[in-house]
Amino acid sequence: MARHPRPGPDGTMPELPEVETVRRGLEHHVTGRAIDTVRVLHPRAVRRHLAGPADFEAGLTGRSLDTAHRRGKYLWLSVGEDALLAHLGMSGQLLVGEPDRPLSPHVRIWFTFSDSGPDLRFTDQRTFGHMCFVPDGAELPGPIAHIAPDPLEPAFDAAELTQRLRRRHTGVKRALLDQSLISGVGNIYADEALWRAGLHWARPTETLNGPEVATLLAAVREVLTEALTAGGTSFDSLYVDVNGESGYFDRSLAVYGREGLPCPRCGAPVRRDPFMNRSAYTCPQCQPRPRRARW
Ligand SMILES: [Zn+2]
Repeated sequence: MARHPRPGPDGTMPELPEVETVRRGLEHHVTGRAIDTVRVLHPRAVRRHLAGPADFEAGLTGRSLDTAHRRGKYLWLSVGEDALLAHLGMSGQLLVGEPDRPLSPHVRIWFTFSDSGPDLRFTDQRTFGHMCFVPDGAELPGPIAHIAPDPLEPAFDAAELTQRLRRRHTGVKRALLDQSLISGVGNIYADEALWRAGLHWARPTETLNGPEVATLLAAVREVLTEALTAGGTSFDSLYVDVNGESGYFDRSLAVYGREGLPCPRCGAPVRRDPFMNRSAYTCPQCQPRPRRARW
């Protein structure tokens, strides 16, 4: 499958499937290895680590990286009782490769390992991503404790989501993007899941019945799982894959970014509406506009 990064129409960010692909890459390439050196090459990359770059480096030097976890779009590696937490932002990448390869000017944090094997480079052209070291954060780092479980986590509670959605009084797409309700769903996969579930994005959440929420949740899981499969990267290459854009799921998109193109189900031209300074894409036939709407 072609993997050319293509900017989405709204400047899309990595979403859950891309981040999960990175998590798997980290699990494969760095879990179980001991850090030799840590160098923060740009202080902005550790701006959320309030104790500063030197403290970040000191907290991690000589430590072993354990299991790689993800919640929504956050990644963390357990480091004993502590955690190394990362958010990729718009353009962050975690790249694994031979330590003697040239250092790109976009490398922000550089980890080498005591086995002298492949190193790990946090590379971020736009520097919206960040990393921090969180003491006692191995199980669930404090800075992300407010983020809801994501629909691919075993801890995700579908019944609770139904209850909370119906109490929310907002449009269903806004609810899907609310990380305190359900995490890891961004603009692209929200539009795709709503299309699959036949729901308009402005449908008021309090009018959703149980079967509709179940259908929507199944659609969210299906879209995320398919995108994850499409992003399933070959671990032969020493590259922990994230392309920083939507990229490889492009070919499977039914509505997102496809204004005016035929709906794959009914052929009606896909409609684009402005939505929270971005866009919402729907099929006007398959996702009729609700009589009462919450824009
Ligand atoms: Zn349609």
